Amino acid sequence: MPAYDFKCKSCDHKFTVRTSISERDQVKCPKCNSSSVKQVFAPFSVAVKSTTASSCDLSCGATTRFG
Ligand SMILES: [Zn+2]
Repeated sequence: MPAYDFKCKSCDHKFTVRTSISERDQVKCPKCNSSSVKQVFAPFSVAVKSTTASSCDLSCGATTRFG
């Protein structure tokens, strides 16, 4: 099961959750129990792809709804 990093919009708490993709939208902050959390991505996964590789890897997937 993959792990995802999240940041809570309410209290700025950052945490990692192991969950399925289908349940990723139901994650809540373990600190304040707010459902207003935003998924964050590891910086390296963006930087590595930033030059000659396809720009579609991250922006064309299921992640486009965030932000
Ligand atoms: Zn929180």
